[in-house]
Amino acid sequence: MAATETPPSPALHGTSDATVAVDAELRSERAARARIAAAELTARDVTGVVVGWIDNAGVCRVKTVPVRQLEHAAAWGVGAAPCFDVFLVDDSITESTWIGGPVGDLRLVPDLDRLVPLAAQPGWAWAPGDRVTQDGHVHPGCARQFTRRMCDAAADRGFALRAGFEVEWIAARAGSADRAAGVTEAGAMPEVSTDGPAYGMTRVVECSDYLRDILRALDAQGLTVLQLHPEYTPGQFEVSVAAEDPVGAADSAVLVRHTVRAVSARHGLRVSFAPVVTPGAVGNGGHLHLSLWRDGLNLMHGGDGRHGLTAPGEAFLAGIVDALPALVAVGAPSMASYLRLVPSHWAGAYRCWGLENREAAVRLITGSAGERESGANAEVKCFDAAANPYLAMGAVIAAGLDGVARGAELPPETTVDP
Ligand code: GLU
Ligand code: MG
Repeated sequence: MAATETPPSPALHGTSDATVAVDAELRSERAARARIAAAELTARDVTGVVVGWIDNAGVCRVKTVPVRQLEHAAAWGVGAAPCFDVFLVDDSITESTWIGGPVGDLRLVPDLDRLVPLAAQPGWAWAPGDRVTQDGHVHPGCARQFTRRMCDAAADRGFALRAGFEVEWIAARAGSADRAAGVTEAGAMPEVSTDGPAYGMTRVVECSDYLRDILRALDAQGLTVLQLHPEYTPGQFEVSVAAEDPVGAADSAVLVRHTVRAVSARHGLRVSFAPVVTPGAVGNGGHLHLSLWRDGLNLMHGGDGRHGLTAPGEAFLAGIVDALPALVAVGAPSMASYLRLVPSHWAGAYRCWGLENREAAVRLITGSAGERESGANAEVKCFDAAANPYLAMGAVIAAGLDGVARGAELPPETTVDP
């Protein structure tokens, strides 16, 4: 767009939530809830609340408030500069005609529905934040509210979504990861937490207390862990949590990462969620699982289409497959993402789909007989944790809804290693 064009009005981007910060009733309702929450937190010895948001380099940026300020923060938000929309992963700040910059202020409003004491950071609680303007409009760059709008758009068409991110990371002895990242010693690699065989019990034995503490902390924070396992690369692990609504799923992915980081620090470990940590090795994915629902029925199952897909289920997936080249810009956004997206790394580097095909960017999962009604879903495998999970989630939903609107059809299935 030419620099002379008028910037889009926030009202065009934020519709139903446009009054989020100015509506006096909403504000006092939030304040009242925060008062009660603050009393509960204080009783649990919590002193500070982290209010976080994710930038477009996948970095979690935060403001924190003492518990006694939670009421004010919930009512009025906490100040946050708009420049964070153009922060890069190395903390340099770029420019944009439409968003960001050093001038102006946004209000970061903690979502009290997700407020939770952090099990591995005693004295701290966490809540994801929504960003609004000082005039009370939804900030166009607030990816969390973008996902919410895409869910509303799906709901307008009678659809609901269930989603979940897998979180993969590599744990290394504190200090050693820095050497590897800094190329300070020729070829220095991180001294990983464990280097037994891939998916091997050795890794669970060597990291027994560490992994137990991760499970305990996630559970204490109300997350339903489905699975925790050692991954392929030395020092690599993965957690998956139960599916929930898309905003909740992105929140949970963020909370899992915070928790893994905090537990790791307590065990003298540093973690990396980067797409690639060691050149050539299998990297860390941020696979996104998604299913489309209508009237309480999973549209990924029970239809006449391939592998039981219903017509809207297929159209939704076809919209995603069609949009993959654009979606990787959002879901695999860093240079390192492209070191990960290579063949034979189960990273989903190929623009195709297939039943249980781990080399396809979109892997269809029907689940086991008997569990398919609830379990059938599709996994977007090409994404990683350098993505803003909210932006990636919203973009995938938008692409899927576009497919439904067009009555898109899936291309032929890829049934072999592409
Ligand atoms: N670590 C692989 C990736 O980069 C994924 C392995 C798996 O399928 O879980 O996406
Ligand atoms: Mg994995």
